[in-house]
Amino acid sequence: MYRKVKALEQVRLLRIQLVHLKNMFKTCRLAKNILEFYDSVPGHLTEDLHLFSLNDLTDIKKGDLGPRLKELVRLGTLHVDKCMLCQAKGFICEFCQSDEVIFPFELSKCRRCEECKACYHKGCFCSDHCPKCERLRARRDQMAKQSLESYNSEPEEEETIQERKMDRAE
Ligand SMILES: [Zn+2]
Ligand SMILES: [Zn+2]
Ligand SMILES: [Zn+2]
Repeated sequence: MYRKVKALEQVRLLRIQLVHLKNMFKTCRLAKNILEFYDSVPGHLTEDLHLFSLNDLTDIKKGDLGPRLKELVRLGTLHVDKCMLCQAKGFICEFCQSDEVIFPFELSKCRRCEECKACYHKGCFCSDHCPKCERLRARRDQMAKQSLESYNSEPEEEETIQERKMDRAE
C-alpha cells in the first residue's frame, strides 16, 4: 500500500510539472517538437491535474507511467534550459535578487504566489506576504487616491483663443 501511494504521489508531482511546462510550450514557437512528445501521452495527464483514467492507474501499478512522465519532464527541462523564448518567461526571485532564473515547474526550488503567480525561491518566500502583490496593491491604492483627488479638484479648462488677423494685401 505504501508503495502504491508513493507512486501516485510521484505521478501527481510530475503532472504538476508537466502542466506548467506545457503551458510555457504552448506559447513558444520553438517548442513544436516537444509539444508533439507531450501529446504522445493522453492529454489529461498534462492538462488536468485531477483526472485519472483507469488505464493510468493500471500503468502506475505496473510502474510504467512514472518513468514516462519523468522523461517528458526531463525533455521539457532541457528545452527550457536552452530556449531563449522560454528563459524569458522565467522569474527572478525578488527576495534575494539572485541572477538565477526560476520557473514554476521547479517544484523543489520555487514557490509561487497563488494570487499573482510570481515565483520565488522556496526558502526566500517564507512569510505570507508577496512583494509583487504588495506592489500591485500599493499601485491600486495610489491610483484610487489620484482619481479621487482629480475628481475633487477638477481643473478649470482654459481655452486659448487664437485670433488670427489676416492682412489682406490690397
Ligand atoms: Zn521554448
Ligand atoms: Zn531567492
Ligand atoms: Zn503575489
